[in-house]
Amino acid sequence: MRKAATVAGLWAADLWSLLAPRRCSGCDTALLSHEESLCDGCLEELPLTRFNDDPFNAVERLFHGKVPLTAAGALMRFSAHGMVQRILHRIKYAHDLEAAVVLGRLMGQELRDRPRFAGIDSVIAVPLHPRKERKRGYNQSRLLADGLREVLPLEPLHRCLQRVERTSTQTRKGRLARWSNVKEAFVVQDEAVLRGRHVLLVDDVVTTGATAEACATVLLATPGTRVSLFAAACA
Ligand SMILES: [Zn+2]
Repeated sequence: MRKAATVAGLWAADLWSLLAPRRCSGCDTALLSHEESLCDGCLEELPLTRFNDDPFNAVERLFHGKVPLTAAGALMRFSAHGMVQRILHRIKYAHDLEAAVVLGRLMGQELRDRPRFAGIDSVIAVPLHPRKERKRGYNQSRLLADGLREVLPLEPLHRCLQRVERTSTQTRKGRLARWSNVKEAFVVQDEAVLRGRHVLLVDDVVTTGATAEACATVLLATPGTRVSLFAAACA
């Protein structure tokens, strides 16, 4: 009886998806009821980096000699006009929030059994410029972190890292505001909470690594803090 009810439920869900089809964020085909954001075909073909066990992987090398990250990596490889670009574009510009959470979950599954990323206890999403976040209504990296936390028991400490626009008032704050370089302005809040933590910094795409470097630099200024980085994609 119960099985019949389940089958009927699935059938109803599939019927509903025919009437109002949800679309795959990778290839835009209609999703089946069991598929979330990505169809089975796209899931299978995600261009995974498969290099996260390697301490000399392409993402980690960006930071060698610049900032001492404990580990760094990415789930997928980004290529112009490829599937990853389509998915990230939908996340950023088409309010495809669910796809971000699904990707975040995949990121968590990828990290779960990687010894190099063991011991991470908290997560911070790379903050957007406040103006940009107000305009978009959300920070896509925060959504990735939400998905990640469905898989890994990490405490969200997003509030500890803020991105601020440089103004003369902020510059005068002096000691409280630590500017890592001229291009990026990040500031640590609540230093006491960060002390002794191993933070996972989460970003959507890592290209030159400059933004993540700036974030990690200010976070690491808190004594006893360790920082690792994991991005949905690397260019
Ligand atoms: Zn697809």
